[in-house]
Amino acid sequence: MLQPRMFQTLLQHFSPEIQRTSTRLLFGVSHALRHGHRCGLHQSKAALQNARERTLIAVKPDGVQRRLVGQIIHRFEQRGFKLVGLKMVQASHGILSEHYGELRTKPFFHSLLTYMSSGPLVVMVWEGHNVVQASRKMVGQTNPAEAPAGTIRGDFSVHVSRNVVHASDSQEGAQKEIQLWFQAKDLLDWDCCDQIYTIEV
Ligand code: UDP
Ligand code: MG
Repeated sequence: MLQPRMFQTLLQHFSPEIQRTSTRLLFGVSHALRHGHRCGLHQSKAALQNARERTLIAVKPDGVQRRLVGQIIHRFEQRGFKLVGLKMVQASHGILSEHYGELRTKPFFHSLLTYMSSGPLVVMVWEGHNVVQASRKMVGQTNPAEAPAGTIRGDFSVHVSRNVVHASDSQEGAQKEIQLWFQAKDLLDWDCCDQIYTIEV
């Protein structure tokens, strides 16, 4: 097995940046091994419970066609949320009518369903502390004209009828939407190794 001293000697042949990164990695891994736990197991129950909040995010057909899927996923990863489910679907009017049931009487309802079924969606479930509220802020106002720069809609869209992304608007709504789009078996419970650094212990 490679001993720390041998490792440091080997590292001297590399640039200072590689030396710093490798040393950080070595000490992180050895700390985790010494303490013999899976990621984050020593966190308080309450912190973990809060961190289990989930929301439904969907890249709409305009976002998929414009190849924005990667950038949208990147924002949620970068923020510190955890992806627990993902699929690409061609949605039927049936599922969309249920998803947007509260808007049934709105004048734009029919065109909304036509737009949402015009091409594939990428539907995801993201998990993390306060994820419902935080993701609504990250997505920005429904009308992109009102969404500030820095939000997804504010950066990637201009019109309310083509606003790139969906995000659940409440914890209750999120639960309903997740059940509508995903079977429980398709959502993964997994330990993300950086969670001890992204939520309070
Ligand atoms: N929408 C529209 N015209 C409107 C308002 C809404 O086409 O005047 C569409 C838009 O795609 C929006 C979706 O209907 O994202 C759902 O509306 P909601 O009010 O739930 O907004 P959201 O929760 O998506 O911000
Ligand atoms: Mg909504």
